[in-house]
Amino acid sequence: MDPREELRELIAQAKEHLRYYSELGLTRIGEISAPAASEPKFEDCVEKQVAETTSAASELKRQEPPASTIIPPPQFIPKTTITMPNKQENAAVISLFGESSLFGESAPLSAETQYSNETLEDIRRDLGDCQRCKLFSTRTNIVFGEGSPCADLMFVGEGPGADEDATGRPFVGRAGQLLTKMIEAIDLKREEVYIANVVKSRPPGNRAPESDEVKACIPFLFRQIAAIHPKLIVALGNPAMQALLDTKIGITKMRGQLQGYPRIPEIKVLPTFHPAYLLRSPDKKREAWEDLKKVRAFLRGEL
Ligand code: URA
Repeated sequence: MDPREELRELIAQAKEHLRYYSELGLTRIGEISAPAASEPKFEDCVEKQVAETTSAASELKRQEPPASTIIPPPQFIPKTTITMPNKQENAAVISLFGESSLFGESAPLSAETQYSNETLEDIRRDLGDCQRCKLFSTRTNIVFGEGSPCADLMFVGEGPGADEDATGRPFVGRAGQLLTKMIEAIDLKREEVYIANVVKSRPPGNRAPESDEVKACIPFLFRQIAAIHPKLIVALGNPAMQALLDTKIGITKMRGQLQGYPRIPEIKVLPTFHPAYLLRSPDKKREAWEDLKKVRAFLRGEL
Protein backbone atom coordinates (compact mmCIF):
# COMPACT_ATOMS: atom_id res chain seq x y z
CA MET A 1 0.00 0.00 0.00
CA ASP A 2 1.11 3.56 -0.72
CA PRO A 3 2.66 4.89 2.54
CA ARG A 4 0.53 8.03 2.31
CA GLU A 5 -2.57 5.88 1.94
CA GLU A 6 -1.45 3.81 4.93
CA LEU A 7 -0.90 6.95 7.00
CA ARG A 8 -4.34 8.27 6.06
CA GLU A 9 -5.87 4.95 7.20
CA LEU A 10 -3.98 5.10 10.51
CA ILE A 11 -5.14 8.66 11.12
CA ALA A 12 -8.73 7.64 10.34
CA GLN A 13 -8.46 4.77 12.83
CA ALA A 14 -7.01 7.06 15.49
CA LYS A 15 -9.83 9.55 14.92
CA GLU A 16 -12.36 6.77 15.27
CA HIS A 17 -10.83 5.80 18.63
CA LEU A 18 -10.86 9.40 19.81
CA ARG A 19 -14.55 9.55 18.93
CA TYR A 20 -15.19 6.45 21.09
CA TYR A 21 -13.38 7.95 24.01
CA SER A 22 -15.07 11.31 23.82
CA GLU A 23 -18.45 9.54 23.51
CA LEU A 24 -17.59 7.76 26.72
CA GLY A 25 -16.91 11.15 28.26
CA LEU A 26 -13.19 10.57 28.59
CA THR A 27 -10.53 13.20 28.49
CA ARG A 28 -7.40 11.51 29.89
CA ILE A 29 -6.90 9.42 26.82
CA GLY A 30 -3.13 9.44 27.13
CA GLU A 31 -3.47 6.77 29.78
CA ILE A 32 -5.28 4.27 27.65
CA SER A 33 -3.19 3.89 24.57
CA ALA A 34 -0.76 1.32 25.94
CA PRO A 35 -1.36 -2.22 24.74
CA ALA A 36 -2.94 -4.59 27.22
CA ALA A 37 -0.30 -6.33 29.29
CA SER A 38 -2.21 -9.56 29.53
CA GLU A 39 -2.56 -11.40 26.27
CA PRO A 40 -5.63 -13.56 25.78
CA LYS A 41 -4.89 -16.70 27.79
CA PHE A 42 -4.82 -19.02 24.85
CA GLU A 43 -2.89 -21.74 26.66
CA ASP A 44 -5.33 -21.69 29.56
CA CYS A 45 -8.12 -22.02 27.07
CA VAL A 46 -6.55 -24.96 25.32
CA GLU A 47 -6.00 -26.60 28.68
CA LYS A 48 -9.60 -25.98 29.57
CA GLN A 49 -10.84 -27.45 26.31
CA VAL A 50 -8.59 -30.47 26.70
CA ALA A 51 -9.82 -30.97 30.23
CA GLU A 52 -13.39 -30.78 29.08
CA THR A 53 -12.89 -33.64 26.71
CA THR A 54 -10.78 -36.00 28.76
CA SER A 55 -12.30 -38.89 30.58
CA ALA A 56 -9.95 -38.16 33.48
CA ALA A 57 -11.74 -34.87 33.97
CA SER A 58 -15.16 -36.51 33.92
CA GLU A 59 -13.89 -39.01 36.46
CA LEU A 60 -12.76 -36.15 38.70
CA LYS A 61 -16.10 -34.44 38.30
CA ARG A 62 -17.83 -37.47 39.80
CA GLN A 63 -15.61 -37.47 42.89
CA GLU A 64 -16.55 -35.45 45.95
CA PRO A 65 -13.95 -32.84 46.97
CA PRO A 66 -12.23 -33.04 50.35
CA ALA A 67 -13.88 -31.15 53.18
CA SER A 68 -12.69 -27.61 52.66
CA THR A 69 -10.11 -27.37 49.91
CA ILE A 70 -10.52 -28.39 46.32
CA ILE A 71 -7.51 -29.69 44.51
CA PRO A 72 -8.51 -29.29 40.92
CA PRO A 73 -7.42 -31.59 38.12
CA PRO A 74 -4.01 -30.57 36.71
CA GLN A 75 -5.61 -28.95 33.69
CA PHE A 76 -7.45 -26.54 35.94
CA ILE A 77 -4.70 -25.53 38.33
CA PRO A 78 -5.68 -22.03 39.43
CA LYS A 79 -3.24 -19.28 40.31
CA THR A 80 -4.30 -19.42 43.94
CA THR A 81 -5.50 -22.15 46.28
CA ILE A 82 -9.23 -22.20 46.62
CA THR A 83 -11.06 -22.58 49.84
CA MET A 84 -14.70 -23.47 49.55
CA PRO A 85 -16.90 -21.09 51.51
CA ASN A 86 -18.91 -23.14 53.96
CA LYS A 87 -22.65 -23.11 54.12
CA GLN A 88 -22.73 -20.98 57.26
CA GLU A 89 -20.90 -18.23 55.44
CA ASN A 90 -23.35 -18.57 52.59
CA ALA A 91 -26.29 -18.29 54.91
CA ALA A 92 -24.95 -14.98 56.21
CA VAL A 93 -25.18 -13.38 52.78
CA ILE A 94 -28.09 -10.95 52.56
CA SER A 95 -30.50 -12.71 50.28
CA LEU A 96 -32.18 -11.04 47.38
CA PHE A 97 -34.99 -13.51 47.30
CA GLY A 98 -35.85 -14.02 50.95
CA GLU A 99 -35.43 -17.40 52.53
CA SER A 100 -34.42 -19.39 49.45
CA SER A 101 -31.14 -17.63 48.75
CA LEU A 102 -29.49 -18.29 45.42
CA PHE A 103 -26.39 -19.18 47.41
CA GLY A 104 -28.04 -20.89 50.37
CA GLU A 105 -29.20 -24.43 51.02
CA SER A 106 -31.02 -24.59 47.71
CA ALA A 107 -27.78 -24.13 45.78
CA PRO A 108 -24.97 -25.81 47.73
CA LEU A 109 -21.50 -25.32 46.39
CA SER A 110 -19.92 -28.36 44.82
CA ALA A 111 -16.86 -29.29 42.82
CA GLU A 112 -19.02 -28.99 39.73
CA THR A 113 -19.78 -25.34 40.35
CA GLN A 114 -16.14 -24.53 41.09
CA TYR A 115 -14.48 -26.42 38.28
CA SER A 116 -16.94 -27.24 35.61
CA ASN A 117 -16.00 -29.66 32.90
CA GLU A 118 -19.08 -28.96 30.86
CA THR A 119 -18.79 -26.81 27.77
CA LEU A 120 -20.92 -23.83 26.85
CA GLU A 121 -22.42 -26.05 24.16
CA ASP A 122 -23.47 -28.57 26.83
CA ILE A 123 -25.15 -25.79 28.78
CA ARG A 124 -26.87 -24.39 25.70
CA ARG A 125 -28.12 -27.86 24.84
CA ASP A 126 -29.50 -28.29 28.32
CA LEU A 127 -31.25 -24.91 28.14
CA GLY A 128 -32.99 -26.12 24.99
CA ASP A 129 -36.16 -24.32 23.97
CA CYS A 130 -36.50 -23.14 27.55
CA GLN A 131 -39.97 -22.81 29.05
CA ARG A 132 -38.88 -22.70 32.68
CA CYS A 133 -40.51 -19.30 33.25
CA LYS A 134 -43.26 -17.22 31.69
CA LEU A 135 -40.85 -15.18 29.54
CA PHE A 136 -40.80 -17.95 26.93
CA SER A 137 -44.30 -17.01 25.78
CA THR A 138 -43.33 -13.49 24.65
CA ARG A 139 -39.75 -13.94 23.43
CA THR A 140 -38.64 -14.38 19.83
CA ASN A 141 -35.15 -15.79 20.47
CA ILE A 142 -33.26 -17.07 23.46
CA VAL A 143 -30.17 -14.92 24.03
CA PHE A 144 -27.68 -17.37 25.51
CA GLY A 145 -24.52 -15.24 25.44
CA GLU A 146 -21.52 -14.90 23.17
CA GLY A 147 -17.79 -14.40 23.16
CA SER A 148 -14.65 -16.28 24.03
CA PRO A 149 -15.21 -19.51 26.00
CA CYS A 150 -11.90 -18.86 27.74
CA ALA A 151 -12.31 -15.16 28.41
CA ASP A 152 -10.57 -13.55 31.37
CA LEU A 153 -13.31 -10.96 31.44
CA MET A 154 -17.04 -11.46 31.40
CA PHE A 155 -19.82 -8.86 31.27
CA VAL A 156 -23.24 -9.65 32.68
CA GLY A 157 -26.31 -7.56 31.91
CA GLU A 158 -29.88 -7.99 33.07
CA GLY A 159 -31.72 -9.39 30.09
CA PRO A 160 -32.26 -9.06 26.36
CA GLY A 161 -33.97 -5.99 24.93
CA ALA A 162 -35.83 -5.73 21.63
CA ASP A 163 -32.73 -5.88 19.39
CA GLU A 164 -31.27 -8.81 21.30
CA ASP A 165 -34.60 -10.65 21.21
CA ALA A 166 -34.77 -10.13 17.46
CA THR A 167 -31.21 -11.31 16.78
CA GLY A 168 -30.55 -13.83 19.56
CA ARG A 169 -27.33 -11.94 20.45
CA PRO A 170 -26.56 -10.04 23.67
CA PHE A 171 -25.95 -6.30 23.76
CA VAL A 172 -26.40 -5.43 20.10
CA GLY A 173 -28.73 -2.42 20.50
CA ARG A 174 -27.71 1.11 21.52
CA ALA A 175 -26.60 0.01 24.97
CA GLY A 176 -24.67 -2.81 23.32
CA GLN A 177 -22.88 -0.41 21.03
CA LEU A 178 -21.81 1.60 24.05
CA LEU A 179 -20.69 -1.59 25.79
CA THR A 180 -18.55 -2.47 22.76
CA LYS A 181 -16.93 0.97 22.98
CA MET A 182 -16.32 0.49 26.69
CA ILE A 183 -14.60 -2.84 25.97
CA GLU A 184 -12.46 -1.28 23.26
CA ALA A 185 -11.58 1.65 25.52
CA ILE A 186 -9.72 -0.81 27.75
CA ASP A 187 -7.82 -2.23 24.80
CA LEU A 188 -9.85 -5.39 24.37
CA LYS A 189 -11.95 -6.66 21.51
CA ARG A 190 -15.55 -7.72 21.97
CA GLU A 191 -14.64 -11.25 20.78
CA GLU A 192 -12.06 -11.56 23.56
CA VAL A 193 -14.60 -11.22 26.36
CA TYR A 194 -17.80 -13.13 27.11
CA ILE A 195 -21.13 -11.34 27.33
CA ALA A 196 -24.23 -12.81 28.96
CA ASN A 197 -27.33 -11.82 30.88
CA VAL A 198 -29.11 -12.79 34.06
CA VAL A 199 -32.19 -13.88 32.09
CA LYS A 200 -32.00 -15.30 28.59
CA SER A 201 -35.44 -14.32 27.35
CA ARG A 202 -36.62 -10.75 26.94
CA PRO A 203 -38.81 -9.35 29.71
CA PRO A 204 -41.70 -7.68 27.88
CA GLY A 205 -41.48 -3.91 27.54
CA ASN A 206 -37.89 -4.03 28.80
CA ARG A 207 -39.06 -4.30 32.40
CA ALA A 208 -36.61 -5.65 34.97
CA PRO A 209 -36.70 -9.45 35.29
CA GLU A 210 -38.91 -10.67 38.13
CA SER A 211 -37.56 -12.80 40.93
CA ASP A 212 -39.19 -16.05 39.71
CA GLU A 213 -37.68 -15.45 36.27
CA VAL A 214 -34.24 -14.82 37.73
CA LYS A 215 -34.50 -17.93 39.89
CA ALA A 216 -35.42 -20.07 36.90
CA CYS A 217 -32.65 -18.72 34.69
CA ILE A 218 -29.72 -17.93 36.98
CA PRO A 219 -28.44 -21.54 37.26
CA PHE A 220 -27.54 -21.32 33.58
CA LEU A 221 -25.51 -18.16 34.14
CA PHE A 222 -23.77 -19.78 37.10
CA ARG A 223 -22.87 -22.74 34.89
CA GLN A 224 -21.60 -20.44 32.12
CA ILE A 225 -19.39 -18.67 34.66
CA ALA A 226 -18.04 -21.98 35.98
CA ALA A 227 -17.35 -23.21 32.43
CA ILE A 228 -15.59 -20.02 31.36
CA HIS A 229 -13.92 -19.40 34.72
CA PRO A 230 -13.06 -15.76 34.00
CA LYS A 231 -10.79 -13.77 36.27
CA LEU A 232 -13.28 -10.95 36.51
CA ILE A 233 -17.00 -10.42 35.93
CA VAL A 234 -18.27 -6.91 35.34
CA ALA A 235 -21.83 -6.75 36.64
CA LEU A 236 -23.74 -4.18 34.62
CA GLY A 237 -26.41 -2.51 36.73
CA ASN A 238 -28.53 -3.54 39.67
CA PRO A 239 -30.17 -6.79 38.52
CA ALA A 240 -26.85 -8.30 37.40
CA MET A 241 -24.97 -7.19 40.50
CA GLN A 242 -27.73 -8.26 42.89
CA ALA A 243 -28.11 -11.66 41.26
CA LEU A 244 -24.36 -12.35 41.12
CA LEU A 245 -23.64 -11.17 44.64
CA ASP A 246 -27.00 -12.18 46.12
CA THR A 247 -27.45 -8.80 47.71
CA LYS A 248 -30.11 -6.14 47.94
CA ILE A 249 -27.60 -3.29 48.11
CA GLY A 250 -27.88 -0.84 45.21
CA ILE A 251 -25.40 -0.28 42.41
CA THR A 252 -24.68 3.33 43.42
CA LYS A 253 -23.20 2.10 46.71
CA MET A 254 -21.40 -0.92 45.27
CA ARG A 255 -20.04 0.30 41.95
CA GLY A 256 -16.31 0.26 41.58
CA GLN A 257 -15.82 -2.06 44.55
CA LEU A 258 -14.14 -5.33 43.73
CA GLN A 259 -16.01 -8.26 45.30
CA GLY A 260 -15.49 -12.02 45.42
CA TYR A 261 -18.03 -14.00 43.41
CA PRO A 262 -19.62 -16.02 46.23
CA ARG A 263 -19.75 -19.33 44.33
CA ILE A 264 -16.11 -19.19 43.22
CA PRO A 265 -14.38 -16.61 45.40
CA GLU A 266 -11.21 -16.43 43.32
CA ILE A 267 -13.33 -14.94 40.54
CA LYS A 268 -13.89 -11.25 41.20
CA VAL A 269 -16.97 -9.19 40.46
CA LEU A 270 -16.83 -5.49 39.71
CA PRO A 271 -20.23 -3.77 39.69
CA THR A 272 -20.66 -0.75 37.45
CA PHE A 273 -23.45 1.19 35.80
CA HIS A 274 -25.42 -0.43 33.00
CA PRO A 275 -24.65 1.13 29.59
CA ALA A 276 -28.38 1.84 29.08
CA TYR A 277 -28.26 3.92 32.26
CA LEU A 278 -25.14 5.69 30.98
CA LEU A 279 -27.03 6.60 27.81
CA ARG A 280 -29.76 8.16 29.95
CA SER A 281 -27.32 9.75 32.42
CA PRO A 282 -24.16 10.71 30.52
CA ASP A 283 -22.82 12.51 33.60
CA LYS A 284 -22.23 9.03 35.10
CA LYS A 285 -19.78 8.06 32.36
CA ARG A 286 -16.92 9.53 34.33
CA GLU A 287 -17.53 7.09 37.19
CA ALA A 288 -18.01 4.25 34.72
CA TRP A 289 -14.63 5.12 33.23
CA GLU A 290 -13.03 4.94 36.67
CA ASP A 291 -14.51 1.45 37.00
CA LEU A 292 -13.25 0.43 33.56
CA LYS A 293 -9.75 1.57 34.42
CA LYS A 294 -9.98 -0.67 37.47
CA VAL A 295 -10.97 -3.57 35.20
CA ARG A 296 -7.96 -2.94 33.01
CA ALA A 297 -5.60 -2.64 35.97
CA PHE A 298 -6.98 -5.85 37.48
CA LEU A 299 -6.49 -7.79 34.25
CA ARG A 300 -2.93 -6.47 34.03
CA GLY A 301 -2.27 -7.78 37.53
CA GLU A 302 -1.87 -4.25 38.87
CA LEU A 303 -4.56 -4.55 41.56
N1 URA B 1 -29.45 -4.81 28.15
C1 URA B 1 -29.07 -5.92 28.82
O1 URA B 1 -29.05 -5.96 30.04
N2 URA B 1 -28.69 -6.98 28.10
C2 URA B 1 -28.68 -6.99 26.78
O2 URA B 1 -28.32 -8.01 26.18
C3 URA B 1 -29.07 -5.82 26.11
C4 URA B 1 -29.45 -4.73 26.81
